[in-house]
Amino acid sequence: MNTSSDTSNSSSANSISEQAAAESQAAESQAAESQAAESLDPQQTTAEIAALAAHLQRAGIMWLPRPNQHSTEQIAARFPVGTTTQLRSSDSGVSQSNRAQVSPDSAGSNPDSEPPASHKPAHSHKPAQLSGGVSSTANTNGSPQPAIKRPTTNRPSATRPAARLQGVSAIQTTEHEYSGDPQPTDQRTQKLQQLAQAVESCTLCPALASCRHKTVFGEGNTNPRFAFFGEVPGEEEDLSGRPFVGKAGNLLTKMLQACTLQRDDVYILNTVKCRPPGNRNPEGDELSNCRSYYQQQFEMLRPEYIVCLGAVSAQELLGTKLSVGRLRGTLHRYFASKVLVTYHPAYLLRNPAAKKAAWADLQYLMRDAGIQIPKR
Ligand code: SF4
Repeated sequence: MNTSSDTSNSSSANSISEQAAAESQAAESQAAESQAAESLDPQQTTAEIAALAAHLQRAGIMWLPRPNQHSTEQIAARFPVGTTTQLRSSDSGVSQSNRAQVSPDSAGSNPDSEPPASHKPAHSHKPAQLSGGVSSTANTNGSPQPAIKRPTTNRPSATRPAARLQGVSAIQTTEHEYSGDPQPTDQRTQKLQQLAQAVESCTLCPALASCRHKTVFGEGNTNPRFAFFGEVPGEEEDLSGRPFVGKAGNLLTKMLQACTLQRDDVYILNTVKCRPPGNRNPEGDELSNCRSYYQQQFEMLRPEYIVCLGAVSAQELLGTKLSVGRLRGTLHRYFASKVLVTYHPAYLLRNPAAKKAAWADLQYLMRDAGIQIPKR
């Protein structure tokens, strides 16, 4: 009798058998994972990454490997979505043929999307939300804030990324026309000069008026098709009294030239006419104080297009807190002017990866304006 030995051998055999079975199962599992990885659709994967990046950006989450607030945008810009997001301008005067496709990297956003805490848009014109799947709600500050429709979980996964990357519907003023009749160009030029003189002696914002060298009223064609609406004067603008000079101004000039435009063809102005010290963003009361000046300028100029450069001007003009990334890709409306939102040249200098998106915005603008851009 060798019962003990037999039992031991049997137990050992069972153990080896179980181990072999486990290894076989692991090998099968690995093969299945490998097969699944090989069968991944690269376009779908890319779209999922873009959707994730856009989601992180909307949620205000910074990208951890490079902890700065521009990173999620850069990631979003690097991963084009598989399906393009349509520029939606159904009620903003854009014909169907002009509904161009936005650049795939439209998931990007301007990180300086939050206006000063005290800023409450106090427009006499209340921006309204056009039709198109996004309803308007009020945020805690009382300003209109489009509500974002969340995708339902039972949608096919292939359609989810595109749905989540949709921008906002066009924002417009309740009045679709500027008040009164347009003035002849010489009369308009004269009135703008008078307004510029009034601005020169303005002291409504003591903190800004006390440290400015010159007010920066704006300059350019007083019968413009395009007006470029910047944020605040910088150091060189403060010294010269002219908008968009220096490095950011040079880049704007190049952007205009790429669109076959010269600076003299357009009008350039800022939201606030005095330089905030230390290049800070303007405070809410400073924006309010200066509001009537740019409103009068637009009233006189009546440009066909207003291009908002950066979050401060876009949020101020449209009365929203949405980021540049959300406002891009749609033609909004300020009275009779179509409004395009894109990145500020100073932001593009700091974040060259966003230049592609800004170029897509300008191409869209030129297509809508019927201006052909020579191929580069
Ligand atoms: S920022 Fe505008 S409102 Fe304020 S002091 Fe300068 S010109 Fe006047």
